[in-house]
Amino acid sequence: MPAYSSAFRHLVIAAAAVLAASTWLTAQSPTPSGALTAATERPVLGGHLEHLLVSGQVHLLAGTGANVVVQAGDEGAIFVDTSTEAAGRDLLAKVAELTTRPIRYVINTSGDLDHVGGNDVIASAGRNFATPAPNSAGIGARGGGGAVNPNNNTQRTAGAQVYAHEAVLNRLSGALTSGRGAAPFALWPSDTFFTMKKTLYFNGEPLELLHVPAAHSDGDVMVWFRKSDVIAAGDVYTPDRFPMIDLEHGGTVQGLLDGLNRIIDITVPRFNQQGGTLVVGGHGRIANESDVVEYRDMATIIRDRIQLMLSNNMTLQQVLASNVVLDYDGIYGARTGPWTTEMFITAVYRDLAKAKTAPSGRGQ
Ligand SMILES: [Zn+2]
Repeated sequence: MPAYSSAFRHLVIAAAAVLAASTWLTAQSPTPSGALTAATERPVLGGHLEHLLVSGQVHLLAGTGANVVVQAGDEGAIFVDTSTEAAGRDLLAKVAELTTRPIRYVINTSGDLDHVGGNDVIASAGRNFATPAPNSAGIGARGGGGAVNPNNNTQRTAGAQVYAHEAVLNRLSGALTSGRGAAPFALWPSDTFFTMKKTLYFNGEPLELLHVPAAHSDGDVMVWFRKSDVIAAGDVYTPDRFPMIDLEHGGTVQGLLDGLNRIIDITVPRFNQQGGTLVVGGHGRIANESDVVEYRDMATIIRDRIQLMLSNNMTLQQVLASNVVLDYDGIYGARTGPWTTEMFITAVYRDLAKAKTAPSGRGQ
């Protein structure tokens, strides 16, 4: 321990110096877009709805729960996540200002209730131009599997199509929650996919729905608006807090890092590492590539520190008492709320401990 503590202190001091320097640089850098300075407030459930044009046809509706991203144009609107049921009316009113055409699609980035809570309100207000008739087995004709209510064998066929990864349906339908019950049928996705990528073309723009395995959860999807040059990353990237690794729903540290690296692969900065492709996380402000790089580096550094502590056989309590995230806590930390510093450290520790005790060949 003494040798470790000394090494760790140096690490913390070095990291703090780097952080101080980079914070200063960020503060000195010109803001590439007015949008980047907004939406810094942590979204509050039921809070005031804030509208920002992100880029091209893509808008951010923030402040009511999780971030809601909307692409709106001549063909109608696509929602990425729907916040809460309570926010539905305000969201619909705002989107009606952006397009007079119907809402056609909803895409869920995960199964978290503050991301899917408005699914029914939003989808019901929209239109489905590809209404399928369920086949004799009650399975939707759109392919890829969809939500069929087991109680009365009905399927959502009216309103906008609700896309999500298959794991989101498994979770919301209660198929994998071992008796903990399901979310209301009205919130389930109507169209699911299990491939790594699904594509749509809407409002003259190609969209890629990118599955990120085992990151925040097992059902994460990021939506890349290729023409507007925006990624709606869901909770793979949450710049207002530490990474939300939901172990209970299949999240892992490595998957989350892979997801952040995927974002960094796609994004292209415009000038001096600023601007260019914009990234809207599941919560928090609009970001660019260098913001995501900084976040990825933070997550990697903390992962490495906790990994080192684990290899020194430190217990979770010792890690929690060690100030392991001290240099980042002021930026991302929280004592209360949905994702505290303690929850983050605990999730990283437990995930890495799983890999440590797993038989060889796993956890790499
Ligand atoms: Zn979230």
